[in-house]
Amino acid sequence: MTKKISVRNPRTGETDHIITAADAGEIADAARRLRDGQQEWAASPVEARVAVLRAFKEAVLRRRADIVALLEADTGRRWASEIEVDAVASGIDRACEFAEDTFAPAPPAATPDPEVTASADLVAYPLVAVISPWNFPFQLALIDAVPALLAGSAVLLKPSEMTPRFIPALRACVEDVPGLSGVLAVVEGDGATGAAMIDVADAVCFTGSVGTGRAIAAAAAARFIPAFLELGGKDPAVVTASADLGTAASAILWGSTINSGHSCMSLERVYVDRRVADAFVETLAAKAGRVRLAYPGIGDGEIGPIITAAQAGAIRAHLEDAVAKGARVVTGGTVEELGGGAYLRPTVLTGVDHTMRVMREETFGPIVPVMAYDGEDEAVALANDTDFGLSAAVFAGTAEEALAVAHRLEVGAVSVNDACLTGMVPAVEKNSFKLSGLGASRMGPPSVRRFLRRRALLVR
Ligand code: NAD
Repeated sequence: MTKKISVRNPRTGETDHIITAADAGEIADAARRLRDGQQEWAASPVEARVAVLRAFKEAVLRRRADIVALLEADTGRRWASEIEVDAVASGIDRACEFAEDTFAPAPPAATPDPEVTASADLVAYPLVAVISPWNFPFQLALIDAVPALLAGSAVLLKPSEMTPRFIPALRACVEDVPGLSGVLAVVEGDGATGAAMIDVADAVCFTGSVGTGRAIAAAAAARFIPAFLELGGKDPAVVTASADLGTAASAILWGSTINSGHSCMSLERVYVDRRVADAFVETLAAKAGRVRLAYPGIGDGEIGPIITAAQAGAIRAHLEDAVAKGARVVTGGTVEELGGGAYLRPTVLTGVDHTMRVMREETFGPIVPVMAYDGEDEAVALANDTDFGLSAAVFAGTAEEALAVAHRLEVGAVSVNDACLTGMVPAVEKNSFKLSGLGASRMGPPSVRRFLRRRALLVR
């Protein structure tokens, strides 16, 4: 039976969109069609695939206004939507360069037997399933799909059922480009659709929560296909006594509230040298108090609505748990119900400790919990006391001092004297540590290389 899924508008709280989930039979049909198309696609020179993806970029830019409007309807937020479309365009350029480098001819390698030469060709996984989340719906749908296509794979893509309004515009961009729809299909659906995709794919890219990541890793392992997982975070920031407190406060506030806190690399824990903790909190609170809600109009401020009522409930539960255990609310602190949506102003907490959920679990809201530390060893121990290992930030008077801390952090990327630089410098290869992910980097040259297997050719 056809499954319909109602989609809630985060600004009004009303259901104003319905999708039809693709079932296992439709997924199997799509997979057969894509496998057929992939053979010619993979056999074509990389330059031909680059030309197709560059044409796709132009199609995206031509439809930029439409896509932004649909992403605004999906998320209720403005700035992230615009940034996403531009990030997709620049990401395509970057991936094209990585693809050209990946397929550049290499000289035959020497072997111990002088009569044998060794070379290799690169064989793409025929069909890659890409399953993406709601928080940056457009960028995270394409961040893995584009490099996989450039590698020579066909891609079956399923964005989140919570933010699907942009899918028709994305399909229109695909249709605009001759040769692309044979190797890229975008389906609508929920977890059941996603699970059916893993049953037919040769590799899977997943961005989302740890719980779903576990299920996907298990399903992929049962079929012996690789799963590239990009999961949650609980990113720490460390502020040393020598840091410029104004710079640190501005960057941390931005890094904690970016996209209403709906970001995997949001700064969700702040550790400050006790000698400067009071001054830091005062500076941070003053800045936080000036940040406005994007309400009633989407352009009225920086902080948009919390994506769902369930997510608002989870954020509220973290706040209540922290306050019950002794945390002090310095700014914000109340989830406000406005016009059917739920909003939280930047919320600075002090008096927090690691018994609190807000310091242990991913909150995914604009909360900045600040904890004082004594000495670098304690700062590092606190920052590493987490199941996650996505990224971190360190603020200090000199880069050397900050890097001494950075080298001790169990995370895949550290921004020094800024926040979330991985988002701004996405060409740099990085991995995700601990529960934050598994598999080769989705950034830098491995973003393309990971979809290719090397076939050694040994000639006597
Ligand atoms: P989610 O795990 O609930 O869902 C993500 C996707 O998985 C959706 O498309 C969903 O339909 C699909 N899905 C659900 N169950 C499935 C199953 N059993 N099999 C196959 N597919 C299934 O995550 P979400 O709430 O959409 O996203 C938020 C999470 O994503 C946060 O934890 C966040 O930190 C993480 N995230 C990580 C990164 C990163 O790069 N590390 C980036 C953005 C978001």
